Amino acid sequence: MDRETRKRLFEAVARRVIASADQLTDLDRAIGDGDHGTNMRRGFEAVLAAADELSAKALGESLKGVGTTLVMKVGGASGPLYGTLFLALGKSLADDVSREQITEALAGAIEAVKARGKSDVGQKTMLDVFFPVLAVLREGGEGLPARLKTAAKSAAENTIPMRAIRGRASFLGERSIGHMDPGAWSSALIVDAVADVMEGVA
Ligand code: ADP
Ligand code: MG
Repeated sequence: MDRETRKRLFEAVARRVIASADQLTDLDRAIGDGDHGTNMRRGFEAVLAAADELSAKALGESLKGVGTTLVMKVGGASGPLYGTLFLALGKSLADDVSREQITEALAGAIEAVKARGKSDVGQKTMLDVFFPVLAVLREGGEGLPARLKTAAKSAAENTIPMRAIRGRASFLGERSIGHMDPGAWSSALIVDAVADVMEGVA
């Protein structure tokens, strides 16, 4: 992956998250404290501002740079968790990437998020998006970007009937049911933006 592609990738992801910040805040207002959009906007504005500099390094180092920026800027529960995800991806990816390597890197990054959040799939968090996305990535095949988008969106929608077991939303118990998890939606937006770059539309 060359510098220009890395830059396009970081900018596409950052712009998508920033553009959806109000939506993320609305989701977090329903089952959290209403700061997810503000948190994510702050973090990804920093990524956008530093995209040129971040992308100058090889993929592994630039992903680590994104992770560090998110840890420093996002805050809340999601900052350290997204930071962990990008740092872990950075640790295992080099510029010469195959789908298999990305699959293994994402699998490792999901495990790192689980360890950091003491969380697992099925608890109404961002993991409920990354896990099904990993399965589609592992399958590979025709029309992968479009299938990744569909998987991410429906996975986020599938958090609606779930009861939150981790994070602030878990304080609501049964009342967390019936709302989409904000972190699941921000994860779906990130996957969607990455898929746009894969398709060459961003
Ligand atoms: P906070 O909950 O501290 O206000 P945010 O609102 O920025 O932080 O982020 C909330 C999101 O973080 C949740 O919607 C959920 O997806 C994710 N999250 C929270 N706790 C965990 C956890 N332990 N493991 C995985 N994801 C989590
Ligand atoms: Mg919040």
